[in-house]
Amino acid sequence: MSSFDRVKQIVDDRIEAERDALFALGEKILHEPELGFKEHATSAKVQDWFTRLDLPHRPGLAVTGVKAVLDTGRPGPTVCLMGELDAIVVPGHPHADSESHAAHACGHNAQIAGLMAAAVGLTDDRVLSALCGRIVFFAVPAEEFVELAFRKQLIDDGVIEFIGGKPELIRLGEFDDIDLAMMIHTSAPRDDEKPVEVWESLNGLIAKTVGFHGKAAHVGNPWDGVNALKAATLAMDAIDAQREIFREDDGVRVHHIISRGGDLVNVVPSEVVLEMNVRGKTADAIQRAGEVVDRCVNAGALAIGARADVDTIPGYLPLRNHQSLVDLMVPNAERFFGGGCLGYRGHSGSCTDTGDVSHLVPTIQPSMAGASGQGHGQDWTIADPVAAYLNPGKTLAMTAIDLLRGDADQAEEILASWEAPMTKDAYLAFQRGIRAKASFGS
Ligand SMILES: [Zn+2]
Ligand SMILES: [Zn+2]
Repeated sequence: MSSFDRVKQIVDDRIEAERDALFALGEKILHEPELGFKEHATSAKVQDWFTRLDLPHRPGLAVTGVKAVLDTGRPGPTVCLMGELDAIVVPGHPHADSESHAAHACGHNAQIAGLMAAAVGLTDDRVLSALCGRIVFFAVPAEEFVELAFRKQLIDDGVIEFIGGKPELIRLGEFDDIDLAMMIHTSAPRDDEKPVEVWESLNGLIAKTVGFHGKAAHVGNPWDGVNALKAATLAMDAIDAQREIFREDDGVRVHHIISRGGDLVNVVPSEVVLEMNVRGKTADAIQRAGEVVDRCVNAGALAIGARADVDTIPGYLPLRNHQSLVDLMVPNAERFFGGGCLGYRGHSGSCTDTGDVSHLVPTIQPSMAGASGQGHGQDWTIADPVAAYLNPGKTLAMTAIDLLRGDADQAEEILASWEAPMTKDAYLAFQRGIRAKASFGS
């Protein structure tokens, strides 16, 4: 056994020694789900663990984020391990909060348990003495791009500038000191999927909120009003009529909800709000689809004689997984999931703000088995706590060891050939350039 294998065994043993506490952490977060930028109780749990591990940390980053730093005391690159704090809204999920309907139906509770497992494993002098550089454990808020009205209010109040957690943390400079980033998302593999999956790329997105403004009137005299709901439904139909012009290669998805659909059934709806995502494989594809959407909104407003105010909001950039980081991760994942556990897949219609991080530093976000059911569905559940709560943490910790062992040759090699698609300034300028307001109709 090489000395680095022994170091990895120490990490494994340390995590196993805390197995029950880590399971309990994953389950506690599962039973106390919180939506993005509201994850105060989850953040407090993270802080408690960092305190227990004697890890210096700063809370309150982008409202609820917590960043801990483990310094080897020797110069070298900084590897960031991430876990997401937030839940989503799934009414009817067995673990949904009775008031907010928030539920961990995307498995982020497992990400935090995994992040803490990695921290438990690595905070040992025998491990640190074999490494150089620093390891950042970053509990990040608000990955799910939801509750646009609430988050726009946070923007108006000056609390945040961006709707998602990682873009906001990038803006705040919290990724300035990070050279490489890794995260593992829990998955529920279908029959044709492997326990560990790496997508070549994920979609990016922009969001739009559309306020349709009509004129209220008694429903007995609808000709005296202007029906904003009709304008909205026409706009949605017009968008559906465009789907055949969206090219497969562009991966475009346009989807919307009516977050306000009228107020009383006996009043002609005068105020209707759509929340919309426009997703695509490239920034150009997203922009083209966004222009089509605006045209459709215009059509709905014009036909009914309503006004539509469109607020275009920057979202997330497409994710590109860094191949050398994937290659380094694979043997560590195979240790837990067996040889041949990795499946490569093409392009996914999903989005994540890890995509934004991947434009600044070499980044990976593989998925790892441990759940069952439908992602974002009522039946999503952690089916295998070892796979969901422990193995991602062990894999992250051991890959960090591979990157930083000795003089961090592996990390330095990756960084030497890395050409960031964007600088931070270019990233912020790009995202800020997306923000736009437009009005259509009368
Ligand atoms: Zn999700
Ligand atoms: Zn997720």
